[in-house]
Amino acid sequence: MNDIETFTAEVRAFLDANAQRFPGGEAHLAWGKGDDHTGYFSDDTAEVEAAKFAAARSWQRTRYEGGFGWITGPSSYGGRELSPVHDLVYDLLEAEYDVPDTGVISLIGLGMIGPTILAHGQQAIKDRYLPAMYRGDAIACQLFSEPAAGSDLAGVTTKAVQDGDVWRLTGQKVWTSVAHQAQLGMALCRTNPDVPKHKGITAFLVDLASPGVEIRPLRQMNGGAEFNEVFLTDVVVPDDHRLGEIDGGWRVALTTLMNERASVGGENEGALARVLSDGFLASLLHETGHGADPAARRRLAEITADLTAADYLNRQTVRRLVGGAEPGPEASVSKMMWAQNLTRVAHLAAELVGPRLTADTGAWGTYSWTELLLGSPAFRILGGTEEILKNILGERVLGLPKEPVAP
Ligand SMILES: Cc1cc2nc3c(=O)[nH]c(=O)nc-3n(C[C@H](O)[C@H](O)[C@H](O)COP(=O)(O)OP(=O)(O)OC[C@H]3O[C@@H](n4cnc5c(N)ncnc54)[C@H](O)[C@@H]3O)c2cc1C
Repeated sequence: MNDIETFTAEVRAFLDANAQRFPGGEAHLAWGKGDDHTGYFSDDTAEVEAAKFAAARSWQRTRYEGGFGWITGPSSYGGRELSPVHDLVYDLLEAEYDVPDTGVISLIGLGMIGPTILAHGQQAIKDRYLPAMYRGDAIACQLFSEPAAGSDLAGVTTKAVQDGDVWRLTGQKVWTSVAHQAQLGMALCRTNPDVPKHKGITAFLVDLASPGVEIRPLRQMNGGAEFNEVFLTDVVVPDDHRLGEIDGGWRVALTTLMNERASVGGENEGALARVLSDGFLASLLHETGHGADPAARRRLAEITADLTAADYLNRQTVRRLVGGAEPGPEASVSKMMWAQNLTRVAHLAAELVGPRLTADTGAWGTYSWTELLLGSPAFRILGGTEEILKNILGERVLGLPKEPVAP
């Protein structure tokens, strides 16, 4: 059952049976309706955050049981083996319904780590973890960045030493989103310090309940604590949890990173769907008394043009994926445009809303823009910084000469 029309009917029947449709299918995009949350990051209390994760996991389970938990995944792991277009159709239809936001488990775990396990994992861990992850039972996080290895990811120093059938991991990871809610982490570790740095890394899937794993939340400037420092002290990882070859972790990491840029660049669900919608932004102009202001109208027109360009780029990527391609360097451009567009929207909103951005008067759609504004510096860092993505764009998409590197 592959044709889009039949699939659409099937998705609609599933959603109608399991969720409430917004009146008109898009109430969340209308000005003044529902909550006025604008942020990408949250400042939830621990209790509220735990409830959101529970709701996301429960909705993921419902999807999985209904046959929509992993639309592009293999049937042996509960997937449907359908195309990214089917995935997109599902997302568009689901956006019409009032369902829990699953971004917290799907962006990293299901969008990045799952495909990496599928491509590079040994049979035992694919069988054990993939169905659990896509059923919402296990959340996975990305243990890549370290205090001295972010953009220069190949510089990781967390050590993995083989000891018979197991590996012993010791080191520190940082900025690990959702680690405090996760059961699994994909870690990049140094396994050979005597070869060029890209060639001495191995990837592992780590059970975060293992002795020696310590997770410490980091507080963000918006008040929330969604990412963490993760300390690994002599953590034992069985060899069958190794992803890819020994010292072949860089190839494995590239699979994750390409999927990261593709999923972040295409991300516009929940509150982001609203703040990236030109209709909603036009309402912002009118509601703040700038509907006839030529300068504000011009800014909105520029943002709308940029959003449209990003949309076309994402569609082009989907077409390439449908043709069997893997996410390529273009995904980096999508991620960069996503970050730039969100930042422009945040700055425009801040100027239009004025002092009400800092004083909560209770007026709908005013103070709430603080969330987006305070999150915006992170957009250009997460998933690859803007400078790094511009280098990729210049060198790998446009074919420009390589950036000089320090000797
Ligand atoms: C919200 C958020 C969530 C995150 N979640 C995760 C996660 O779940 N897991 C994870 O592993 N990591 C995560 N990260 C970390 C993220 O991947 C890194 O912060 C990012 O790769 C940059 O690394 P860094 O912070 O070490 O900065 P650095 O690499 O030290 O960069 C500092 C500055 O130097 C610039 N720079 C560095 N190298 C070059 C170069 N070659 N050319 C030009 N400019 C350069 C950078 O662009 C940047 O402006 C997250 C980050 C954020 C903000």
